[in-house]
Amino acid sequence: MFIGMDDTDSPGGMCTTYLGAMLAQILRHAGYAVGELRLVRLNPNVVWRTRGNAAVCIEVAGGKPEEVFQIACELIEKYAMFDCEKTNPGVVIVDERPDPVLYYQALQRLCTIEEAIEQLDNIRALYRGYKCGRGLIGALAAVSSVLPDATYELLTYRSADRLGTPRMFEPESFFASAAATAPHTWDTVDSAAHAVVCVPHGKDPVLYGIRGESPEWVAQSVTLLRSEKSAFSQIWRTNQGTDAHLIAYTGELVGGLSYQIDGSVASVPETRRGGHVRFVLRTDASGQDIPVFAFEPTKDLRHAVRKLLPGDRITACGSYQKGVLHLEKFRLNAVAVAERRVSPKCPICGGRMTSAGRGKGYKCRSCSARIRETEWLERDITEGWYEASPGARRHLAKPIIRMRDAAAEKDNTSDNKEI
Ligand code: ZN
Repeated sequence: MFIGMDDTDSPGGMCTTYLGAMLAQILRHAGYAVGELRLVRLNPNVVWRTRGNAAVCIEVAGGKPEEVFQIACELIEKYAMFDCEKTNPGVVIVDERPDPVLYYQALQRLCTIEEAIEQLDNIRALYRGYKCGRGLIGALAAVSSVLPDATYELLTYRSADRLGTPRMFEPESFFASAAATAPHTWDTVDSAAHAVVCVPHGKDPVLYGIRGESPEWVAQSVTLLRSEKSAFSQIWRTNQGTDAHLIAYTGELVGGLSYQIDGSVASVPETRRGGHVRFVLRTDASGQDIPVFAFEPTKDLRHAVRKLLPGDRITACGSYQKGVLHLEKFRLNAVAVAERRVSPKCPICGGRMTSAGRGKGYKCRSCSARIRETEWLERDITEGWYEASPGARRHLAKPIIRMRDAAAEKDNTSDNKEI
């Protein structure tokens, strides 16, 4: 059977993965054979999400679904953050994985509680929704999920007596661990900002989360970390870092959905107040002009965006909200050949020359002298992927280190280290 749980946490504490890991332990102690533990991230743009919009699914072999259901409900009733207005837990148990259509709907689009309940009744699932029952959406999505691409996260949880206190850890050990296991692990540290990014700051029970390509790599990475004594750890199989939230753009944009869009840069990027960088993307599919923002928290992504020029061919990935694409990453597919914006001075009279047409050199306005050679702009950006800094990255966004195209492989070879 598969147990799905969602929406038990709040900004003030708890974490759905913690409850899931506890449930797995309780079931093991009760003699159940616990299989895969799965962590799925759903549409990151839904407004009522508590934090990362995560739901969990636990696979259990054999046993009575009614008994497991009872254990799961008791756990939620004991630990979920019911006081938080946004916390509306849901638990679902099914014998076999349902059609993944609802998983994709909750991941890439929007799903209502009514739709989830209708589906749960159709498949005769055991389920319980608390308060408004919104957690049923994620719980059903989690048991319905399919992971054609998957990564792993090892989550280590704090002991109960330390909750709410500052997390104690040695940052140097995290940098060493990241260096020793790259590129098979990622998002442990932000080297450019010299910051540890895998340790949360809130009141939740997570001490740190190590993301990587396989259970072996994340486990290897953790052996190198030094931190406060933890309660326990759990490795989760996840859809994180797979770009599963992206829809290929075909000419239509809906607010709250995330897209991958091919097109060309149609304006010179400009830096706005607050350090946000904006440009216009003209899409290949429809010729539609879309305003694109690389917001300030994306840090390094903005530096790359500032180097773009009209005519550059790109693939842009991000979420579309309120008429604007929030850029997560982009691939520069072809660098535009651009003429220097300031034309040369006339070698005869010293006057300002004007372009005689694209690639045709320059003509003097006062004495009609000509220069045949066009001065092309030197571009300081090359083809390849550019992404937001680790601290601003979406859970679902596939890191460049996982992008398999030739350009990315070439970009990453200098970072490759084998242990
Ligand atoms: Zn002249």
